[in-house]
Amino acid sequence: MPEQCSWCGVAVADEDGFRAAEPAGERRAAFCRLEHIVPWAIQGARWEAGTLNGLDPEDDAAAGLGRCAQCARPLDETYVLLVRHRGEHRIADAFCDPDHMLEWAKAGGRWRGAA
Ligand SMILES: [Zn+2]
Ligand SMILES: [Zn+2]
Repeated sequence: MPEQCSWCGVAVADEDGFRAAEPAGERRAAFCRLEHIVPWAIQGARWEAGTLNGLDPEDDAAAGLGRCAQCARPLDETYVLLVRHRGEHRIADAFCDPDHMLEWAKAGGRWRGAA
């Protein structure tokens, strides 16, 4: 069953799009593209119940991050995880909260600037 974008409702293919989660609250969301995180977060971040498929918050993706991708502060237990699906690749970033994920998405995500 294809997932749907939490903002615009289009189907999000497994090898494409973004998945977000708040592991502590067992809440999740999906996005067809980075830009759709922005209005979703501004409108109050309406999560769905659930966890990310195949992504255990205890394992590598989250544990290896440790710091917010936006402000670089150490994460506490209510962090938000964002995973980009690109073919077989899963590229994870973590944030203090949905607001920092929003700021990061607004700025173009991981591909902003020369970093
Ligand atoms: Zn969308
Ligand atoms: Zn932050």
